[in-house]
Amino acid sequence: MTPLLIGSEIYRHSSYGPKHPLAIPRVSTALDLIEALGWLPPAGWIEAPRATPAELARFHAPDYIAALQRAEATQRATPEDQARFHIGAHGNPVYREVFSRPATSAGGCMLAARLTAGGGVVYCPGGGTHHGRPDRASGFCYLNDPVLGLLTWLDAGLDNVLYVDIDAHHGDGVQDAFHDDPRVFTLSVHEEGRWPRTGAVEDRAGGAARNLPVPSGFNDSEMLWVLHGAILPVARRLRPQAIMLQCGADALEEDPLSRLSLSNNAHWGVVRALMGLAPRLLVLGGGGYNPWTVGRCWAGVWAVLNGYDIPERLPPAAEQVLRALRFGRAAGRNPPEHWFTTLRDAPRPGVVRAAVQRVVAAVVRDLDTIAVRER
Ligand SMILES: [Zn+2]
Repeated sequence: MTPLLIGSEIYRHSSYGPKHPLAIPRVSTALDLIEALGWLPPAGWIEAPRATPAELARFHAPDYIAALQRAEATQRATPEDQARFHIGAHGNPVYREVFSRPATSAGGCMLAARLTAGGGVVYCPGGGTHHGRPDRASGFCYLNDPVLGLLTWLDAGLDNVLYVDIDAHHGDGVQDAFHDDPRVFTLSVHEEGRWPRTGAVEDRAGGAARNLPVPSGFNDSEMLWVLHGAILPVARRLRPQAIMLQCGADALEEDPLSRLSLSNNAHWGVVRALMGLAPRLLVLGGGGYNPWTVGRCWAGVWAVLNGYDIPERLPPAAEQVLRALRFGRAAGRNPPEHWFTTLRDAPRPGVVRAAVQRVVAAVVRDLDTIAVRER
């Protein structure tokens, strides 16, 4: 079945503010690259619908949803909004689309789950806000579109779903949402000791979770070790009806907020390995704070899902997309030429350190205790 692409123009000129890590264009860069490479489906991408407050209430508290709408309408957060809902506080600013942008990500993710009710592959790079809480914003995430997509699958009758998260940060909001629900198994690979500082290797959220905190400098060889030693064994054990992959690009070397050292080959390898392991696959974006890194990685994810060859050197139209980007951080002052002319990074192999081998061994030590649901 041909993969489907869900996008929106809402991301193009949306910014969390000039000094915020999410001042940069990410989804629009990936979509522009996909178009410039001739990879858009004939009918283009599917427009993500904005989720309604009633749809969002499947996971989020109505008074929190109302507060987000009010913040968008007034462009300010009251002291109560800041204290109760963390809107306009803790790195979650009031910005122009503070309700409609996350509601569009949520609507896209829920649509993706509905479109795959009978099977299929959908890519929704605007999704992946894995820190969102039922009643407050957290870690730049106002709503939790992965949770809403997973709930859409459950509401359609699925009862064995695997959520894999390779963002540099722990997928805490998703894990906690399904803490007592054996229908969703969550697996997160993230940088050890980084915010939100949860997701220790012993943390199994009541049984249906595994966590792989990895050390700074985590390289491509180590991700391969994690993939073949933990992610694939868990997936094969579960035999899930559906897999959701959160593909945050902040685990790549050039990201300014994290200290992991992957090349985009690592992310593409995980995408490729998960294809065909379940009848349904939904791939999301996530973190990622270097616009070149995010755009190149996420455009390549779409190539992998479709089996397209990634050219060694980008055609002029794609190069133009990358040359037009501006980035206020140090890395933006003198970007290396290959950020403009290639999609694929040079691989970043290395030693598979003992710390990585230990977390993988701990995760699969008692794989046979993972309850396999009868169908
Ligand atoms: Zn992240």
